[in-house]
Amino acid sequence: MMKVAEVIVDVPTLQTNTPYSYLLPADLCDHATPGMRVVVPFGKGDRLVEGFIIKVKVTSMAQPALKTVSGYLDEEPVLTPELLKLANWMAKTTFSFQISCLLTMLPNVMKAKYQTIATANQVLTDEKLRSKLPLQVPVELTKVDFSPAERRKIQKLRQQGALTIKYQVHNQARAKLITVLENQITDFTTVASQLRSNATEQQKLLAYLKQHQQTRFVQQNLVQTAGLSRSAVQSFVKRGWLKKMMVEQRRAPELQQYVRDAAKKLTSDQQRAVTAIQAAITAEVSRPFLLEGVTGSGKTEVYLQTIQRALELGKQALMLVPEIALTPQMVRRVKQRFGTQVAIIHSGLANGEKYDEWRRIRNGAAQVVVGARSAVFAPLQRLGIIILDEEHDASYKQEDNPRYQTRSVAFWRARYHHCPVVLGSATPSLESRARAEKGRYQLLRLPTRINQQKLPQTQVVDMTKQAAAPTELFSEPLLTAIKEKLASHEQIVLLLNRRGFSSFMLCRDCGYVLQCPNCDISLTMHLDTKTMKCHYCGYETQIPKTCPNCHSHQIRYFGTGTEKAVQQLATLVPQARIARMDVDTTKKKGSLAEILRKFGQQQTDILLGTQMIAKGLDFPNVTLVGVLNADTGLELPDFRASERTFELLTQVAGRAGRAEKPGQVIIQTYNPDHYAIRYAQQHDYESFFRHEMRLRHLSGYPPYYFTVKLTVNAPQAREAAQLAFQLQEELQAQLAKTTILLGPTPRPIARINKRYYYQLIIKYKQDPKLHASLEHIQQHAQQISRTGVQIAIDPDPISFM
Ligand code: ADP
Ligand code: ZN
Ligand code: ZN
Repeated sequence: MMKVAEVIVDVPTLQTNTPYSYLLPADLCDHATPGMRVVVPFGKGDRLVEGFIIKVKVTSMAQPALKTVSGYLDEEPVLTPELLKLANWMAKTTFSFQISCLLTMLPNVMKAKYQTIATANQVLTDEKLRSKLPLQVPVELTKVDFSPAERRKIQKLRQQGALTIKYQVHNQARAKLITVLENQITDFTTVASQLRSNATEQQKLLAYLKQHQQTRFVQQNLVQTAGLSRSAVQSFVKRGWLKKMMVEQRRAPELQQYVRDAAKKLTSDQQRAVTAIQAAITAEVSRPFLLEGVTGSGKTEVYLQTIQRALELGKQALMLVPEIALTPQMVRRVKQRFGTQVAIIHSGLANGEKYDEWRRIRNGAAQVVVGARSAVFAPLQRLGIIILDEEHDASYKQEDNPRYQTRSVAFWRARYHHCPVVLGSATPSLESRARAEKGRYQLLRLPTRINQQKLPQTQVVDMTKQAAAPTELFSEPLLTAIKEKLASHEQIVLLLNRRGFSSFMLCRDCGYVLQCPNCDISLTMHLDTKTMKCHYCGYETQIPKTCPNCHSHQIRYFGTGTEKAVQQLATLVPQARIARMDVDTTKKKGSLAEILRKFGQQQTDILLGTQMIAKGLDFPNVTLVGVLNADTGLELPDFRASERTFELLTQVAGRAGRAEKPGQVIIQTYNPDHYAIRYAQQHDYESFFRHEMRLRHLSGYPPYYFTVKLTVNAPQAREAAQLAFQLQEELQAQLAKTTILLGPTPRPIARINKRYYYQLIIKYKQDPKLHASLEHIQQHAQQISRTGVQIAIDPDPISFM
């Protein structure tokens, strides 16, 4: 009898997208469980790679051809049977590799680090190579620059035995261990009598131990904080008075204490929603709910009380929020309710912290998980409810492989666990709202704000009629309102969805616009860094003093970003304390929390930022919200442009007047009659939904059609275009008559990072042949990837950009 493990190896190609069989050596085979990471030899050179056991089989037949598992990376399986199944489904539906799906589910540190180490066994004849690979010196190959010819030579030398190559797989996932000393002394007098009278350091240590009535001390604290001598500690350990041990220390993202907060008495609308969801939790049915509640209607309280029910039944809860909405405020509200049972996962955590939080979930210590997109894979095993707050948010779709939609993964897990899913939003996505219309989701409504507080009064300012405005950015009505609020010590949120100082540089003499050398996009001026930056590839260059084309001094900067807005505002209202919140000011760890803390404590008056200020913020003293330019999103060539604009305006307006004081909203626009702006002004989601649905129906867009976006990119525009047209022809021949192909067309920004992009949109209602056709394209993509041409398949893309 022998045991065989089926392993998915960390070699992302189609050929390796199925499990490989490996023998389990006798001393390791009892241990083997699906979901464990192992190290296995792979390929001709038996290079070692990470892999996941997905099945263990017992067989009596001799399996001479099989390779053997080299070792384990884990003591316990890191992936549950559920997640292994989910990865399989995800790989199929997102046209990606199983290994990518498996690794996506785990914290980054669990992707092993590989090293290839070469050692020369004899003095190499090639002089250059000899200097890079001296005799008997192990050299890590990735750390040295070898030409392709040299690499080929290395392989040859290896075959001749002149060189040995070893592969190493390093597990990067490690708990943080600290040294703890346990006091073993019961009789201090006896110990004191055994110390020499001149051993002052030891006496100090003894006195310290006696004085502190605790048994365990962190070694580092004794030495660094209490200033005791390390050698005294060592000698106490030697004499058995202190016992040394290694203890895991949690790299906790937050150790601060939270004041516990009890459940609030629900309004009748909230109660109706909570009752329906709780019933589904108790009955263990995987029913989807759409909780449509205006901003400030108390959706979060509904989430908290349904989570409470799940916990009472011994089940667990998963609450997902967009990254940006995962503010300290939201975290605090959940922790105040559920305390230490909560684990938080977001991109602000360091790798080690993420790993520790993940392990608290994996070993059952955390019952409630709050996190952004990737937390949908949290290894909870008794899920009782899954919540997606701000379900319409674009960040729920992963833009890289595997291109999953968090909502779909949540539904899959809910079916597995027989638990309900709650999608919450003030502005549900058209898809979700349409499904509620058809009865596929149960619609729950919270139509009013808590305490019957009115939604804020909204004024639309037509910027085409503001010729005499104080500046291009601040109209008279907005500036007046800002001054009023400052005078009455109320706070203001201003939205400008464009970062940097100026969006482009134009030469007045020759018309030259400074562009990114790698992308088809103009460079943005940033005063912070005093550079011109590309927001797509990260390219940076100095701010030119003269036109790079004709050397004229007549260069001007146009288009306004958050930096310039803050500067203008500071001159218009010098008394105001202004904070800027955008990607540039929140990059540093903790800086976002700091900006919000100051605003919360009213140390700043105005928060001016990009769309990251639109979500989740709940500050009672904010009574004015201003949108400096509502048109930035409307201009985009995308079928969701109106929906996104309506969402953003509604969300940001929702920041005003959340407590007793009434709120006011001012929207500046060059398109005052656009329906997205009109309906946002009236807080009228229903009318927007009907209007937009009519347009989508007419033009055949989601939710009336499903879509797939195919993007081809290559270093040459010709190659990309050719392949895109070839794919179109093939698809045309294979797909159903009712399926519509749009394109190929160059992508709106046709070149990014020196590569040219062409895209093709497939619109379909039902097409039994589509999946096979796309799988075929996936195979083709794999074959041609060596030539530098790439194909990306994006099912249900969030935009056509
Ligand atoms: P939403 O998530 O819908 O925007 P929130 O959950 O943030 O709304 O609620 C808005 C405010 O109302 C919060 O300050 C919250 O504490 C408060 N709140 C919610 N429900 C109740 C309730 N039943 N009674 C009193 N206050 C409530
Ligand atoms: Zn010029
Ligand atoms: Zn660029």
